[in-house]
Amino acid sequence: MTRAWVELDLGAVRANVRTIRAAAGPGVDVLAVVKADGYGHGAAPVARAALEAGATRLGVATPEEALRLRDAGVTAPVQLLGSFLDDEVDGLLQARAQLTLNDPGDVARASAAARRAGRPVGVHLKVDVGMHRHGVAPGDALDLLAQIARDPALRLEGLMTHLPSPRDEARSRAMLAPFADLVARAARAGLRPPRVHAAASAALFRLPEARFDLVRPGIALVGLDPDPSPAGPALAPALSLRARVTRVLDVAAGEQVGYGGRWTAGRPSRLVLLGVGYGDGLPYALTGAGADVLLQGRRCPLVATVMMDYVLVDATDLPRAPVPGDVATLFGRDGDAFLPLEEQARRAGLIPYALSCGLGARLTRVVRGAEITSASHRRAA
Ligand SMILES: *Cc1c(COP(=O)(O)O)cnc(C)c1O
Repeated sequence: MTRAWVELDLGAVRANVRTIRAAAGPGVDVLAVVKADGYGHGAAPVARAALEAGATRLGVATPEEALRLRDAGVTAPVQLLGSFLDDEVDGLLQARAQLTLNDPGDVARASAAARRAGRPVGVHLKVDVGMHRHGVAPGDALDLLAQIARDPALRLEGLMTHLPSPRDEARSRAMLAPFADLVARAARAGLRPPRVHAAASAALFRLPEARFDLVRPGIALVGLDPDPSPAGPALAPALSLRARVTRVLDVAAGEQVGYGGRWTAGRPSRLVLLGVGYGDGLPYALTGAGADVLLQGRRCPLVATVMMDYVLVDATDLPRAPVPGDVATLFGRDGDAFLPLEEQARRAGLIPYALSCGLGARLTRVVRGAEITSASHRRAA
């Protein structure tokens, strides 16, 4: 047993995909976004669970992420969602990734690479409706769409956009209008991309007009709330961070504790040292931020500075004396108690995405709730 680990609950991922599909409605497909190692949760297991629950496609940010999914045996369509460099395109085709095209140069480079590879590449034309990161202007999209449709080296898979402020419904509706207009103009010109897509997690729940044929959830797959509002969906958090107590120590009232003496015991205190720190991606900014951890199903305050390999927790009020080896929960469920990752992120001044993506390579990864497939039966037998 290691000192600190994350537990990924694949049952939660499957439940979230079902929630997403129910919200998106019939006829709307799900592309599961698993970039940045599935938001720090593990790209391959999250991808597999999402596909088991009905997602049909996957999205990544880098060629290496596409390749790793292929190496893990994933055969579903994988789209590189952002932009690609000249020297990345051949590798992307080898990984059988679909490309997102953001300008006329991308169209030419994708076409040339597909000719080199000797087979067509699936592409999505991206339209910039105001994010100013990726995509062509709506006014330039129709010509490029026609050019892609004419090119036998390119297989048009989709027309897409991405919204910068999905929580701002009025702004998002205004941005979607030229995109929807483009879709209509394309149809009149006889250009019907097989799928039109615009909505990431927050938009798919909030903006029905952003759903089109396909939604692209990332953070919602792993049960982090893209849209913390009472009307938001009930998602199942997929990740817990746990660490074991490595030492128990008593300090007298008035003692200054830890680096810089940043915390002073206001009473005789029993502290526990947990074997997790910023070296594992626990934000240093939780120092002095009023954060708690769970021990024995109860909240205990995190005290002193977050250190590289350790944090200190005030366990004075616990009903049972803690001992080395006890398991604490930094976020996630502990019996009936639940400490949201979102709460730790807020205290650290981070968005939940940044906290989960920053979890460190030193943490052991425990995956629970894998479906027993006939293939894994065969392997186990
Ligand atoms: C990251 C990303 C998503 C997923 O965003 P979430 O907010 O995590 O759902 C969807 N589409 C694109 C283009 C992205 O880059």
